[in-house]
Amino acid sequence: MRLIDIGVNLMSPAYNMDREAAVQSAFNAGVSPLVITGVTAAESSRALSYARNWNTRSTAQDPAGVLPSGRLYTTAGVHPHDAKSCNGGTIADLTALAGDRLVLAIGECGLDYNRNFSPQPVQREWFEKQIELAADLSLPLFLHERDAFTDFSLILERHRDSIKAMVVHCFTGGERELEKYLSLGAYIGLTGWVCDERRGSHLLPLLKMIPSDRLLLETDAPFLFPRNLSRQDTQPPPGPGGSRFRGGRNEPRFLPHIACFIAAHLGKDTEVLCREAYENTCRFFGRDFEE
Ligand SMILES: [Zn+2]
Repeated sequence: MRLIDIGVNLMSPAYNMDREAAVQSAFNAGVSPLVITGVTAAESSRALSYARNWNTRSTAQDPAGVLPSGRLYTTAGVHPHDAKSCNGGTIADLTALAGDRLVLAIGECGLDYNRNFSPQPVQREWFEKQIELAADLSLPLFLHERDAFTDFSLILERHRDSIKAMVVHCFTGGERELEKYLSLGAYIGLTGWVCDERRGSHLLPLLKMIPSDRLLLETDAPFLFPRNLSRQDTQPPPGPGGSRFRGGRNEPRFLPHIACFIAAHLGKDTEVLCREAYENTCRFFGRDFEE
């Protein structure tokens, strides 16, 4: 089984004490590459530096076999929560980052009217600017939408002809939203949210509506620890920041668990689902990941 985690918030302080171990254990579990989600221009830059450094070490001559394996990639973008921190230099900064081949997509960008950490008009402005940037650079979009379906889909509709590819990451909506995103040509990113019997059970009947060539898998770690996974499977997060993850700190190594859960609900062979998701991921990013 081989899986690509398309969304890991690897630069989160939750990994400050053991980031390298979290990455290596994902690779040991067959989850590779990992795509680190960029949430601000500065965080995207940190993520890219980390990925570059890892990849350089993992491809170095290593007779003792102690260097890290696997590959890291990133996205570059500004989350709607941080839209208010954008300025005249933001698009230039993202453009410079996206010049690196390790940057696979623009995002995470979109609209979040659930928290409204940035004013809604400011969110819309920077969402559109990042859609235009992705079109200019011919890169796919990594999209976030929460409680903003109407505005979000109107904006996507307006730009759909210029969008190369897009994924609505961490899809948690209903049937109407799913139908709309599929009709716009979007890929659907599923996380361990589906494993949460309190708030994710509405997704289960929708799984069969997602065409097998449109499904992508992600953990969104350290968030969204799959609730049906044993707590014993996760270490208590060490150091400061751990208290935010009382329900368990998620890690990219748990992606196979999410894949198994979805496959079981679809009555599908897990190997088949994983192969399809892997191929979808390669097609979505326009890369074969064999380099
Ligand atoms: Zn998100």
